[in-house]
This record gives sequence, C-alpha cells and structure tokens, in this order.
Amino acid sequence: MQPFELITVSSIPDAVKAQAASSTAQQGAPVRFIAGGTNLVDYMKINVETPRQLIDINGLPLAGIESTPDGGLKIGALARNSDVAHHELVKERYPVLSQALLSGASTQLRNMATTAGNLLQKTRCVYYRDTAYGCNKRQPGSGCSAIGGHNRMLALLGTSDKCIASNPSDQNVALMALDATIHVTGIKGDRAVPIDKFFLLPGQTPERETVLEPGDLITHVTLPPVPSGAKSLYLKLRDRASYEFALASAAIVLKQSGGRVESVQVALGGIGAVPWRSHEAERALTGKVVSAVNFRAAAEAALHGARPQSQNGFKVELAKRCLAHALAQAAAQA
Ligand SMILES: Cc1cc2nc3c(=O)[nH]c(=O)nc-3n(C[C@H](O)[C@H](O)[C@H](O)COP(=O)(O)OP(=O)(O)OC[C@H]3O[C@@H](n4cnc5c(N)ncnc54)[C@H](O)[C@@H]3O)c2cc1C
Repeated sequence: MQPFELITVSSIPDAVKAQAASSTAQQGAPVRFIAGGTNLVDYMKINVETPRQLIDINGLPLAGIESTPDGGLKIGALARNSDVAHHELVKERYPVLSQALLSGASTQLRNMATTAGNLLQKTRCVYYRDTAYGCNKRQPGSGCSAIGGHNRMLALLGTSDKCIASNPSDQNVALMALDATIHVTGIKGDRAVPIDKFFLLPGQTPERETVLEPGDLITHVTLPPVPSGAKSLYLKLRDRASYEFALASAAIVLKQSGGRVESVQVALGGIGAVPWRSHEAERALTGKVVSAVNFRAAAEAALHGARPQSQNGFKVELAKRCLAHALAQAAAQA
C-alpha cells in the first residue's frame, strides 16, 4: 500500500473544502473521502486506489434514518447498511431495499459499509482489480482486457467498446427501482440528483462513473413513498447462497388491481454497466393481466438489447428467469 495522509473533518463545509482544495491544488494521486472503508481500503491494498490523502468523514452527523413529510424516507450517507436493512421503516415501507442490503457481503461488512460508500463502490471486474492488465476504467487508454477475456460476471447492457464492467451493488438496484434521489453538497452548494441521472454509462470515458465533481460530498438519499398497496422485493441469483456478488438480480415494486398490473417499477442488477432500470419491462407489463406469460414477455423486453460477451451469454436467460420469477413472487404477495 502507498503511504497516505489521514485527516478528519468535523463539519460538512470542512469536508467539501478539504476535498475540493486538495483535488485542484495538485495533480497526481487523488484525495478520497473514507466512510466504512470496506471498498476503498480493499482497493488501496492492491494499488488500484492510491490516494495521497484520505478525509475521514465518520464524524459528520450523516447517519440518521427518518421519515419525510410526504411519507418517504431520508437515509443519511453514513447510515450503515445493517442499520438501514434492519430499520423498522425500511422493512415496513421498502422491503426491497432491506432485502437487497441483506443479500450483500457479510454481516461484518454490512456493519461498516455506508449508504454513500455502497453507492460508489467499484466494479469487481478482475482486470480493474489487477494493475498488471489494461483497463480503461482504471487507466484511460490502456484497453479493455475483459473483452475476449474473463467476462463471465460482467455486463450485458449499457456496455461500450471501452468497458464491459458491471456495477456490483445490490443496494443500488433497489434504489433505482425506488426512484431514489441522491443529495450532494459541493463547492457550488447543494443539489439533488435523481438516481437515473447519477450513474454514467461507460461510453468512451469509463473512468467517469457518476456525475460527482471534486469536492462533492453525498449527504443523504431520499426515497419517495411507494404507491399505496404496492409490494416490493429483491431477488438475487449468484454462484453461492451468501457472500457473493449477483450474476443477475431484480428489484420490483408492483401494484396490482383487479388481476391487472396497475403500476410496476423494475431494476436489474449484475447485468448492467450501471444499476439498470428497465422501462421496457415496465411498459410491457403496465395494464396487463397478472400472468406468467406476461411476466416472461416483460423479461424478454428487458433483455432485448443485451450484448453478451464471450463467457456471459448464459446470463441473458438467467436474468430473464430472475425477473419473471421476481415479478411472480411480488404478485403472489398481494
Ligand atoms: C468481500 C466483500 C463482499 C462484498 N459483497 C457485496 C455484495 O454481495 N453486494 C454488494 O452490494 N456489495 C458487496 N460488497 C461491497 C460493499 O457493499 C462495499 O464495500 C460497501 O458498501 C462500501 O461502503 P463503505 O462505506 O465501506 O465505502 P468506502 O470504502 O468508505 O468508500 C467507497 C467510495 O465511496 C466514497 N465515499 C464514501 N462516502 C462518501 C460520501 N458521503 N460522499 C462522497 N463519496 C463518498 C469514497 O471516497 C470511496 O471512493 C462486498 C465487499 C467485500 C469486501
């Protein structure tokens, strides 16, 4: 691991100022906020991340979880994944988020991992994690070793000729289905970014993963209320039953009435370059009769644009079955 300086901050403006000043003052090794450290330190140990300074934000008052006046929820950036997953309001109003969080990592990791850290966790692509190989996301212009290489776990949707890495987070899939908003404080003030505008597709610049700018601190995430009577759930398929990232997953918020789908929100994990919202599946299903045939049609629509690589073609069918099964499970809860 490279040597680094660790500083602590005790106010949000100090955190923003410290990051913005350090990021613009010198070129070279970056400056990073550190929250739970379960992703950042992991990558520092293998020299994928080589910050010259870490800004410890754990002293900031950003760990709260509270109801909003509209019946939604505000989740602090430093709320630990375990605390969110086991919170009564989350279990009651957003089971999809609780289930997604509990399907990830291990108890020990979830006790440290934070909402914002999870949002920004890096891909598990083996070439991103190995500095001996070219990776456009880690080192722009060095090529994508995953194309034609080990790509079994990687993305089918949203990829480019520069990068086929998948977003590994479970939490982010649930937040995508729930229409979360990411609240950010930066040097120019506060802003609220809808989650579908937060992540950037790799395109020609895979190193840029979100709309965050130097100095930007995520302060909290808000969730709108789900439609009254809607059921939500998360289904994750993986190589082993725990402590493993998704091959394919689905987050569903479904409301039915009179045997038909009144509204549905669908997001997919494990198969997208970013957490993948499928408006195609939603359009295919809204207003339709609740049936296995229509769930399968929605799954076909969701994967219509899939571009499998040399080793991950099996995930096309897996993701379709995952989505159709998740829809059936959500419908059965009604
Ligand atoms: C063995 C293992 C298995 C795992 N399995 C899963 C899994 O199955 N599913 C899953 O979803 N995840 C999994 N994870 C990933 C885990 O969920 C993440 O490591 C964790 O969520 C990161 O949160 P953190 O607070 O520790 O982030 P950190 O490591 O502290 O930070 C991560 C990034 O976020 C930035 N950051 C943190 N907070 C802020 C903020 N407020 N504003 C701006 N930037 C910020 C940091 O600068 C850094 O770049 C696994 C991790 C490990 C090590």
